[in-house]
Amino acid sequence: MSHGSRPTTIDLHRHVYGGIAAPWWLTHIAGRRINPGPYESAWLRMYDQPSPLRALLQRYQRNDQHVIEDFRRLFEFHQKDGPGFERFQLHHDLITWTSALADPQLLRRPTQRFAEELPLVIDHVAEQCRREGLGAAELRLMLPAGMRPAVARWAWALFSHCCGQASTTSCRIDGIASLSRSHAVPQWRDLADCLRAGEAGGIVGVDFSHREERSRIQDLLPVSEQIHAFNAQNPRHAVALVVHVGESYEGICLESALRRIHQAVRLLRPHRIGHAVAAGIAPQHHGVHERSETVRERLEHLTWECEHADSLTQHGIAVDTAQLRHERSTLLQRDPRQRLRRTYDHRLLEEFSQRQQWLRHILRRQQQIIEVCPTSTQRIAGIRDHHHHHVHAFLDEDLTVVLGSDDPGLFATTLSQECALVEQWRGEDCRHLTERVGACSRYLSGRDTLS
Ligand SMILES: [Zn+2]
Repeated sequence: MSHGSRPTTIDLHRHVYGGIAAPWWLTHIAGRRINPGPYESAWLRMYDQPSPLRALLQRYQRNDQHVIEDFRRLFEFHQKDGPGFERFQLHHDLITWTSALADPQLLRRPTQRFAEELPLVIDHVAEQCRREGLGAAELRLMLPAGMRPAVARWAWALFSHCCGQASTTSCRIDGIASLSRSHAVPQWRDLADCLRAGEAGGIVGVDFSHREERSRIQDLLPVSEQIHAFNAQNPRHAVALVVHVGESYEGICLESALRRIHQAVRLLRPHRIGHAVAAGIAPQHHGVHERSETVRERLEHLTWECEHADSLTQHGIAVDTAQLRHERSTLLQRDPRQRLRRTYDHRLLEEFSQRQQWLRHILRRQQQIIEVCPTSTQRIAGIRDHHHHHVHAFLDEDLTVVLGSDDPGLFATTLSQECALVEQWRGEDCRHLTERVGACSRYLSGRDTLS
């Protein structure tokens, strides 16, 4: 995958629908029968006023020249729109709920609209990849949960086919299937059938993305074991396991955010992890503040903390297991949904920093590949001082980082802009972070070998 002496630039973290440019999507959806009700409800809840989407679409129909810029402002996610994962998700929801994915018929049967839309979208995104000069890109697609198995197989095969069709000799497009965290096992079963039948050769990885705080890492353990077993039995169709983790942790405590990254790496044995922001963000970014988590989350944390007490203690983190057990027995009497508040003062922030170092030490020792998407994190986490960005701690401590664009359409960015941003922050050449061919899913899964 190299072109003469020039190494290949690869985007290993890019979502299909998040890669769409605003004007393209406006043209695509204008005049179509759409029902963006859930998007409009979410907008109303967030901003306490109706969404301007329909009015913008009507202006487009009337050939209003200024509508493209207004639509772009509604579509793209910039610093002014954040911070927060839910605010970001609202921008992604605009696409999802106006796309063929939102049609409930798609759960029951292959739809004409999806069959027409997906090839156009992948062509458009692949065209952006070629324009950016990428040698390869892995594109992630999430299908709705609850599809009939035959429909899911049809859709994955279509996705695979579209990636193959969009690939050229100078820019390979591979697919990654983003599965639902709550329906992972049935979704994987359908995808595995499709892979085994040789219908999805263009899908090289399985991802878990979207809202991560609503499920537990352990819930993904059965599916991760099935994926690793599948790979051992089907080396020609093996897939890399990539997991978004530690990206959003607004509704849990900082220790739990770190624990989830540790659990993901230890339990799921992923080939790459996405973001892991909590492991590297400067504690000053959060500053003195209060947050909360459920009793259920805390109980899980207490069990984990007791299990890893020795390792934490060796790293200078004070762990009082007797105290933790006492807290546990008290909490077991309470409603697991109740929220527990925790104030992060300077002492707790210092301890958070120590725990981050402990976790980064493990990530480095395991040579865990971490996908860092600079702008995405900057805007979703609302990082105003770039020195607080997690990419610094990761690179300072020599962790294995690859750069990704995440949702270049929503963030109005490109992989080379992402690389230039980090180079500007670091004052050093960072191109190698976009050229790690060995971090491609094809190689990590063992399907292809580097020669
Ligand atoms: Zn992502």
